[in-house]
Amino acid sequence: MIPFNKPYLTGKETQYIEEAVKSGKISGNGMFTQKCQSFFEEQYGFQKVLLTTSCTDALEMCAILADIQLGDEVIIPSFTFVSTAIAFVRQGAKIVFADSLPDNPNIDVSKLEALITPKTKVIVPVHYAGVACDMDPIMELADKYNLLVIEDAAQAIDSSYNGKPLGTFGHMAAFSFHETKNIIAGEGGMITINDKRFIHRAEIIWEKGTNRAEFFRGEVNKYGWVDIGSSFLPSEVIAAFLWAQIENLEIIQKKRISHWHYYHAGLKKWAEQKDIKIMSIPNEATNNGHMFYLVCKSIEQRSTLIEHLKNEGVLAVFHYISLHSSPYYNDKHNGRELVNSDMFTDRLLRLPMFYELDVESVVNKIIKYE
Ligand SMILES: *Cc1c(COP(=O)(O)O)cnc(C)c1O
Repeated sequence: MIPFNKPYLTGKETQYIEEAVKSGKISGNGMFTQKCQSFFEEQYGFQKVLLTTSCTDALEMCAILADIQLGDEVIIPSFTFVSTAIAFVRQGAKIVFADSLPDNPNIDVSKLEALITPKTKVIVPVHYAGVACDMDPIMELADKYNLLVIEDAAQAIDSSYNGKPLGTFGHMAAFSFHETKNIIAGEGGMITINDKRFIHRAEIIWEKGTNRAEFFRGEVNKYGWVDIGSSFLPSEVIAAFLWAQIENLEIIQKKRISHWHYYHAGLKKWAEQKDIKIMSIPNEATNNGHMFYLVCKSIEQRSTLIEHLKNEGVLAVFHYISLHSSPYYNDKHNGRELVNSDMFTDRLLRLPMFYELDVESVVNKIIKYE
């Protein structure tokens, strides 16, 4: 069976983990953590990066930094992972779900302004499949209504919008290094901060509400409890693993993008004949090879295609189920229909995508589908 995902190991992971262990500093914020953080700051121009134990954690940090209070409204797309919502729900926010575009699961910016009320505090664009949301109008709206923008960039490493890296547009952003993402640490993530106002507090929240990071830099002569927080920082074992991945970021990206193009060219004609849409990239966005998806003409067609691929030994999987109709939130949602979100729930299908994938063989199996 060709799996949907297979974590790629560069070969250096265990060596770096051994180095971290032998150095005697295994807890967080050591040499490997700092190497990873500096790399991302320099490579992409984030003002401040802090590694976290997951993207979910990074989003939780964002919700604390945004000072979400009971009843504050946060606008997020319905077609996203639960973490995008949960991070804000835990702080007492009311989630206002936005619809996707008709031809792309990203948030439909043209319908955004109508969702803003005096209680709105944050907009969370999710760069689905690593493809940029339309950030210019989102940032304009945020400016106009004095809102914060927190990018869920979990899938968006090494991708950009009009030439500028994703994760640098919002006041803050959250990335994931879960084993299903492009570069991985098993479980892992990072928060990126682009508004100086939040940097100082972010470090404190990261270190269980203490000013320990400042203390270790010699900026204060004792440390103690100064704010709320949690244990958001990963151990050096995780950071060492991630460092091995970072060293291979370029070759990983090259390979994934080449798989993507092979799918795109190999499936174009077949998809047209079957009335299936294949993933495309808007002009202002780049392709980071995170995912290749199809949009079937119906849920029935998707089921028969999944079945066909299973019989051919290929695992293809659908994705999110609209959060506005989830068992947890549907009675809190205001009943507005989100037709595109529901359409992607029913009809989107993701094809295998990983470094060692034999993409040619998958394409050959797909085009046998009648
Ligand atoms: C993977 C993902 C997350 C969660 O990432 P973790 O690191 O597993 O917490 C959140 N949002 C989106 C859009 C994701 O794809």
